[in-house]
Amino acid sequence: MSAKLDLSGWDPEGLKVLVRVDFNVPLDGDRNITDETRITAALPTITFLSGKGARVILMSHLGRPKGKIDPAFSLRPVADRLAELVDVPVKFALDTVGPDAASRAASLQPGEILLLENLRFNPGETANDPSFAGALAAIGDAYVNDAFGTAHRAHASTVGVPQVLGGGRAGFLMEKELAHLGALLNDPARPFTAVLGGAKVAGKVDVILNLLERVDHLLLGGGMIFTFFHELGLNVGASLLDKESFEVAREISRRAKTSRAELILPEDCVVADEFSDDAATRTVLVTDIPDGWMGLDIGPRSRERFGKVIAGSRSIFWNGPMGVFELPSFAAGTRAVGTAIAEATKNGAVSVVGGGDSVAAVNSMGLGEGISHISTGGGASLEFMAGRPLPGVKALSDR
Ligand code: AMP
Repeated sequence: MSAKLDLSGWDPEGLKVLVRVDFNVPLDGDRNITDETRITAALPTITFLSGKGARVILMSHLGRPKGKIDPAFSLRPVADRLAELVDVPVKFALDTVGPDAASRAASLQPGEILLLENLRFNPGETANDPSFAGALAAIGDAYVNDAFGTAHRAHASTVGVPQVLGGGRAGFLMEKELAHLGALLNDPARPFTAVLGGAKVAGKVDVILNLLERVDHLLLGGGMIFTFFHELGLNVGASLLDKESFEVAREISRRAKTSRAELILPEDCVVADEFSDDAATRTVLVTDIPDGWMGLDIGPRSRERFGKVIAGSRSIFWNGPMGVFELPSFAAGTRAVGTAIAEATKNGAVSVVGGGDSVAAVNSMGLGEGISHISTGGGASLEFMAGRPLPGVKALSDR
């Protein structure tokens, strides 16, 4: 249970409740929603509030329109889809703090739902501009945040609005995310293993440093390992290097010597002569990467070692692929880790997967069902695991 006020025991009947949701869904060229997970994840909160007779005013961003109105980023397709998923009327406002939103909010009946247009059409959203936050707050009586995926951002809709309205409540999705991630961070069953991958070290430094003191095993894979190998004096050929992170990679390796966690890097990798699915490939020890070849996945020895560590763990956190999993030739490492985590979960471990790419990998490999909790927030779950307070959570009322 989180320390923040949630929806339980609340009677919002008749109130205009401003709900920050994360409807930042992927759209194809014809503006069809290609993955509606983020919409369905917010339904429990939306239907609860509507069922209690609240006037539900939903706010979200979609993509990065950079403070300008851009029809390509309109939330209209989301409103249309939402209307099919709930059995109460869903209205759509053509603006956020303009006359259309104001009049539609004013005429909203208890139980009805109104979705405002993309918050990021207004530069005040990401700037957390007080006048934009004030204007948003003016159309509601109470605030709920169910957008875990943006809780690490101090924007008008995540921080400014609850400040004006004197706090707010966590929605069901927010509550669930905080409960799962909080349990892992504060009271994990041990051994606790974290698996981190992805392209870059930058952006993961704080989470790596924090996890080194909290977990028992820290497994690193993905493109970022070559930055570590380079700093250990190995030849990495044409592999990805995150030049800005050389110094911090050295610092991480140094700290790992005395940290609680055992830091485990891959022993072998799959190298390719070019970045392509039909490149020539070889499996080599990380000490033997040939000039001109690039490491695009962890190798079979590493898959086995990582699998054994995962199998012996009772708590597991995973963020970031082990290789270029989008190309089938380099997906084996990511698949092995996903499969091992699902297997460990079946045997009683608690597993949490966070981050867009690892979630996409888990789902595309059909392993989603085997994971205890799949986080809807990539950046937010990393910030949380880095031990940093999330501004959007801090802004909510204490229990
Ligand atoms: P990130 O956004 O840092 O989590 O990185 C995710 C991306 O890292 C995915 O698109 C992967 O294809 C990519 N990636 C993983 N391993 C490698 C690698 N060895 N070389 C280059 N890119 C990689």
